[in-house]
Amino acid sequence: MRIDKFLSNMGYGSRKEVKVLLKSKAVEVNGKAVRDPKVHVDEAADVVTVGGEKVEYTEFIYLLMNKPQGVISATEDKYDQTVIDLLGEAEQNFEPFPVGRLDKDTEGFLLITNDGKLAHELLSPKKHVDKKYFALIDGVVTEEDGDAFRRGVMLDDGYVTKPAFLEILKSGKQSEIQLTITEGKFHQVKRMFQSVGKEVTYLKRLSMGPLELDPNLQLGEYRHLAEEELDALK
Ligand code: URA
Repeated sequence: MRIDKFLSNMGYGSRKEVKVLLKSKAVEVNGKAVRDPKVHVDEAADVVTVGGEKVEYTEFIYLLMNKPQGVISATEDKYDQTVIDLLGEAEQNFEPFPVGRLDKDTEGFLLITNDGKLAHELLSPKKHVDKKYFALIDGVVTEEDGDAFRRGVMLDDGYVTKPAFLEILKSGKQSEIQLTITEGKFHQVKRMFQSVGKEVTYLKRLSMGPLELDPNLQLGEYRHLAEEELDALK
């Protein structure tokens, strides 16, 4: 990998900024100053230092984003902005992808990583990872809806959902609820409410497994997972 990409990936700024850093002679590879951004380094074998500090290379990144509405949970899209477009150059260099999908009009908790194994495990139906949502519902949500969700409801394609837990925060013409599901079928929350004759008008994911949406993240913002958070996920 080129030294400029290596350092950019490790958080030393954009390629342009790294070029300036290289010019300042702050960067050494195996004890020798390197100024040329095109020099190749072996991430596993070469010792890279910046200002005398060793740079430890990591292969994977794990990001937690507060997904805004209007953005697609995909790596590319012909027409719309994707969640990957919201990342900085350094994060994009890792070629990450979203773990599962939130609809274009759904907000909230979204994991983004380039760790295919972890993503696969989190999405595996066998793992039953809890996903908790907050939603506004057009219609009066009742305890009977909660009973139906606990038993499983039939979606429009005949699929019967696994037991889900409904918490009614406010019941009225417009209701407020939290719903915890263990699956990730296409438009699942919206279709579950459809099956009891109600419409989801706003949807936000609050948590996935042991991790919750960070209240400090504004819509569209993201941060790296802390080591303990990653350990909790694995
Ligand atoms: N269920 C939905 O209907 N939409 C989402 O984005 C996530 C879960």
